[in-house]
Amino acid sequence: MLSIKDLKVNIEDKAILRGLNLDIKPGEIHAIMGPNGSGKSTLANVLAGREEYEVTDGSVTFEGEDLLDMDVDERAQKGVFLAFQYPVEIPGVSTATFLKSAVNAVREARGEEELKSIDMLKLLREKTAMVGMDQKFLQRSLNEGFSGGEKKRNEMLQMALLEPKLAVLDETDSGLDIDALKIVADVVNQMRDANRSFLIVTHYQRLLNYIVPDHVHVLVNGRIVKSGDKSLALKLEDQGYDWVKGEAALAE
Ligand code: ADP
Ligand code: MG
Ligand code: MG
Repeated sequence: MLSIKDLKVNIEDKAILRGLNLDIKPGEIHAIMGPNGSGKSTLANVLAGREEYEVTDGSVTFEGEDLLDMDVDERAQKGVFLAFQYPVEIPGVSTATFLKSAVNAVREARGEEELKSIDMLKLLREKTAMVGMDQKFLQRSLNEGFSGGEKKRNEMLQMALLEPKLAVLDETDSGLDIDALKIVADVVNQMRDANRSFLIVTHYQRLLNYIVPDHVHVLVNGRIVKSGDKSLALKLEDQGYDWVKGEAALAE
């Protein structure tokens, strides 16, 4: 489904990702862990199509097509969901209006008809309940004055509505309390199925107590230096990153 080959990425001429390889098959959940500054968010941002990142080598294909060649909307229309670390605020645009247009844009790209108002309303109701969000949020301006937990719920609502084939989530340690982590885990677990894949970027093992990944990868200094199953996450929680860094330094 997603294939990353020898990906090299610079920011302001500094090499951040230095040859990253990753293959994600349908139905798999992959977790990327690693010490601060190792390039985890850079990877998520490159997949999201953010512009300040310069890809100098390698490739990323999604279902055989060049992902890096697609603009941000195209990525969403093809079924890639990219949650942002800091979702934008759009004053004056209600959350409902934003979500409706996002859903219809993706439907249109898939060759499906726009949802009738009544069906859209039904869908919004169903998914807001799924993420445990109060219906009142839908009337508020997008993200304006939302608390961290509310932003997270809103992001998970977007994911639930868009039903992507692949979701990339960047869960930083900053500002995410245990309740927010549980929201993420709860929605991911509800959406998990044989055809949908997730790439979950996370600093702490904590989230992986709630979402059991199929594969865990450790990113150090712009490369995946170790991969394993969920027990690798437990070992990192227990022993930290120093032992992996040591192994990685020896391999250089
Ligand atoms: P992680 O998410 O693993 O903590 P990041 O991908 O955020 O790591 O950062 C990797 C490196 O790239 C760090 O050294 C960071 O300072 C640098 N970096 C990230 N984003 C930018 C940016 N927009 N401009 C300059 N340097 C950046
Ligand atoms: Mg960081
Ligand atoms: Mg980060």
